[in-house]
Amino acid sequence: MHKVNLKALEFSELEEIIKSHLLPPYRLKQLVQWLYKKNITTLEEITEWPKTLREIFSQKYYIGCLRLIDRKKSVDFTEKFLFELEDGETVESVLIPDGDRLTLCISSQVGCPLGCKFCLTGKIGYRRNLATWEIIDQFLQVSKFLQKEGKVITNIVFMGMGEPLLNFENILNALWRFKNWINFSPRRITLSTAGIVPALRKLGTSAPSVKLAISLNAADDKKRSLIMPINNKYPLRELLKTLREYPLKYGQRITFEYVMLKGINTSKEDALKLAKILKGIPSKINLIPFNPWEGCDFQRPDEEEIIQFQNLLISQGYSVFIRKSKGKDILAACGQLRANYLNHTRKSKINK
Ligand code: SAH
Ligand code: SF4
Repeated sequence: MHKVNLKALEFSELEEIIKSHLLPPYRLKQLVQWLYKKNITTLEEITEWPKTLREIFSQKYYIGCLRLIDRKKSVDFTEKFLFELEDGETVESVLIPDGDRLTLCISSQVGCPLGCKFCLTGKIGYRRNLATWEIIDQFLQVSKFLQKEGKVITNIVFMGMGEPLLNFENILNALWRFKNWINFSPRRITLSTAGIVPALRKLGTSAPSVKLAISLNAADDKKRSLIMPINNKYPLRELLKTLREYPLKYGQRITFEYVMLKGINTSKEDALKLAKILKGIPSKINLIPFNPWEGCDFQRPDEEEIIQFQNLLISQGYSVFIRKSKGKDILAACGQLRANYLNHTRKSKINK
């Protein structure tokens, strides 16, 4: 018999199952707790349940888990996890230690359809959306490894492979499960987007209030469209209007990410334009020096150019940070994720 993955089910579906076995409601609460908080991988582990009940469930259901196929540690202690999904696709998650923080950068899609010119994931193109449980399981599986080392993930960022707002329903579901089932505070979650305007509006009204990061990368439409084709569909004026109307919690700011590409978007004029267009939006700017990858012609600006850009924005009253590049030696830095897509296509070609 084809077994059903319990992690792939909504609350109402789990509720149905519990009812159909004529079990009392507290069994439902226990099941959710064991799946999401105790992070079990087999039904056998639910020791709170009678053995017969575990056996009955094991015949019909299983607990889906992403399969770790590679784990690499950088010299700076950043770690990259490569997971295989049930259909053989692969995604990456990156664990970034920073002081007393331990941030997990998770993926939302296999590949990405938006094709930003500086991004390796964009170059792969789109393979598929991740299911809600595949999004959450990156967190659960990495947590399990860390548990053995006495560590816990303190922050989550949706800055891995893919554009989260193009996988809206599943991301929304995942955010609610993180909040309600895992008790992970939305204030410690950051969602980064290239700016899908209609989805951004929906996010503001229907999601728990996570932090928002916008990959801006240029301060005028001409330059932005050149490096981020999605800007043709949702130009800056529309994007910034949506952000001005975004329901921020008191004291909350929007992070603007700005990948610095030598000779493209790093001049004094670019900085002044950026300062001008962000006026009035509670913001924080993260400058990300471009991380080079093979086959991409952009270059990283030199240190001085970056600092000048930063200082100019600071003099205009902004909080501006330079994002340290982590995990470069294991291709785990921003925009360098691509899983083992190439191996995968080769394998599937052979299979055909
Ligand atoms: N799709 C989402 C989230 C994933 S990308 C988004 O675009 O926001 C996460 C961040 O990596 C984005 O801010 C993007 O601008 C940045 N990035 C992509 N490629 C990069 C590269 N080669 N060097 C530095 N940053 C890069
Ligand atoms: Fe997709 Fe983000 Fe990369 Fe652009 S920067 S291609 S939106 S993952």
